[in-house]
Amino acid sequence: MDFDALFSEQLDALKAEGNYRYFAELERQCGKFPRAANHHADGVRDVTVWCSNDYLGMGQHPKVIAAMCEAVERCGTGAGGTRNISGTNHDHLLLERELADLHGKEAALLFTSGYVSNWAALSTLGSRLKDCIILSDAGNHASMIEGIRHSRAHKVIWKHNDVADLEEKLAACPANAPKIVAFESVYSMDGDVAPIREIVEVAEKYGAMTYLDEVHAVGLYGPRGGGISERDGIADRITLIEGTLGKAFGVVGGYITGSHALCDFIRSFASGFIFTTALPPAVAAAARASIRHLKESDSERLRHQQQVARLRAALDRAGIPHMRNPSHIVPVMIKDPVKTRMLANYLMDEWGIYVQPINYPTVPKGTERLRFTPSPLHSDEDIERLVAALSHLWKQCAVAHAVA
Ligand SMILES: *Cc1c(COP(=O)(O)O)cnc(C)c1O
Repeated sequence: MDFDALFSEQLDALKAEGNYRYFAELERQCGKFPRAANHHADGVRDVTVWCSNDYLGMGQHPKVIAAMCEAVERCGTGAGGTRNISGTNHDHLLLERELADLHGKEAALLFTSGYVSNWAALSTLGSRLKDCIILSDAGNHASMIEGIRHSRAHKVIWKHNDVADLEEKLAACPANAPKIVAFESVYSMDGDVAPIREIVEVAEKYGAMTYLDEVHAVGLYGPRGGGISERDGIADRITLIEGTLGKAFGVVGGYITGSHALCDFIRSFASGFIFTTALPPAVAAAARASIRHLKESDSERLRHQQQVARLRAALDRAGIPHMRNPSHIVPVMIKDPVKTRMLANYLMDEWGIYVQPINYPTVPKGTERLRFTPSPLHSDEDIERLVAALSHLWKQCAVAHAVA
């Protein structure tokens, strides 16, 4: 059998749709974020990264770097095993305590990524709780969807951020079945925010547990970076808060927080927790330094919000439509995968501006977009330059449109 021919057939179809993914080869440069080197066919060039999830530039923060280096010198590189077999290091427990404190919970449990934490926690809850029903927001991330699917629990999808629809669906569930309402705080592609309090109230009314993904909010919102649930003073009423160490905290890893019993349950039964090598102690130490810093320092969050507002205002002045939302994510809708890629290529080649085209299946077909994530380290000049580039493009498109 010619397997490569089978592979190529499907890849060619992807290319024909404009949904084939080209990765930019970057070399991040410590101390220069959002600048990075871009290795490409003809050599290396400097680019400004406009789509990083290292939202605050914590990946190059001196305290975080120092903590990682110190831990490597102290412990070496790897964890040495799974959490069960020799891999549980002191730094893991320090980090879990830090995370429990961040969300005001009794306990926390670390995973190798946010994806794995969602997948493992939801698949364990859904499969181990007898007759469990998982009510999942229609906009939920792939990691939650896969976890729920793997659990084989009964799944009910409610309309995105629609509390009335959620209530209708909760009311239709058997009263005595265990129910889990799974949702996110900040949705990463549209940048909209869930009505957490209303969702929690409806869930409580029907005795459901709440499962909240705060991946795009931890570090960024709340007085200590505990996310939207901290900002809104509702964290104590959420059963499980999940987050990542790889986005605003600038390192890598994922976690859940909740009661002792909940975390012990996942720890004891989740395959995705048990059968994999623990995170390197140095990663845990770096993440903890990042969390500790952002618990005390508000300046990164303030400057972040300022630069987000500045980019939005500059786009408005230039007449470039962008999606309104209450978060730090600035989507510019193009609504066509081929055009989105053309624009991104042009920005990269002509302006040294890197923004990855966002296409299906990350977003629904027909909603392809450029997704900008300004950071506290993007200067006012960076913003002006981006808007100048986009204005130039928009004028060209208008001309092309008029001629066509
Ligand atoms: C990125 C993301 C995850 C996964 O987190 P990683 O640490 O990157 O694996 C989970 N949920 C949402 C909503 C995400 O956007």
